[in-house]
Amino acid sequence: MTAASTESASSRTADLAPRLRDVRARVDAAASRAARAPHEVTLVAVAKTFDADVVAAARDLGQVDIGESRAQELTAKWEALGSRVRWHFVGRLQRNKVSDVVGVAAVVHSVDRPELAEAIADRAARLGAVQRVLLQVNVSGDEAKAGCAPSAVPGLIRRLRDLPHVACEGLATIPAAGEDPRPAFASLRALRDDAAAWFPEVAHLSMGMSGDYEVAVEEGATLVRVGEGVFGPRAGG
Ligand SMILES: *Cc1c(COP(=O)(O)O)cnc(C)c1O
Repeated sequence: MTAASTESASSRTADLAPRLRDVRARVDAAASRAARAPHEVTLVAVAKTFDADVVAAARDLGQVDIGESRAQELTAKWEALGSRVRWHFVGRLQRNKVSDVVGVAAVVHSVDRPELAEAIADRAARLGAVQRVLLQVNVSGDEAKAGCAPSAVPGLIRRLRDLPHVACEGLATIPAAGEDPRPAFASLRALRDDAAAWFPEVAHLSMGMSGDYEVAVEEGATLVRVGEGVFGPRAGG
């Protein structure tokens, strides 16, 4: 490692404590505004592009839940840190990467089609595990975003329930960029409430990123996925 990269790594970790404190305080304040208990919301610190040392520093500050969006990065950081942290896979998952993620990630936030759920179930069965997943819904109808159509949610939940090695525990979304995210968050919550009336285990709402996690908490998020807000700006955007 060069002197320059060592220096930038330590300056990033120096910023980490105040950033984490700030994000946690904002989550708590948003929960209070919505008359929710702060412990109902889990902060998932999304560490994509940041090194394992930065993740280890976050863990030392008490940040247990870490998100990754690329299978390769998850594998590399898993090899460095193992189960010192609780891993969340939040990115688009290709079927050929399923074996890298299942059994490593505590929760996969991005299941949006039956074939993917079946591949996850097959891998989990081989490991003798049950993989916890969230169904990702494209509530804004933005073509560029992953996720199933809102109308497909009940049918997909039923299909996932038929897979004994997959546990669908909630819904996730990424709202369209440049739009007010609140209506999208409220829609996801309504979908969750409808589903939970039949399937009470469908309880979680993974929604909210650096720009909008406070709104998401006001609208009922139980998992917020915050990257730059915790770790600082990502190189290359
Ligand atoms: C990168 C990413 C995040 C975090 O984004 P920030 O804007 O850095 O907070 C959240 N969710 C997913 C799916 C991501 O890929």
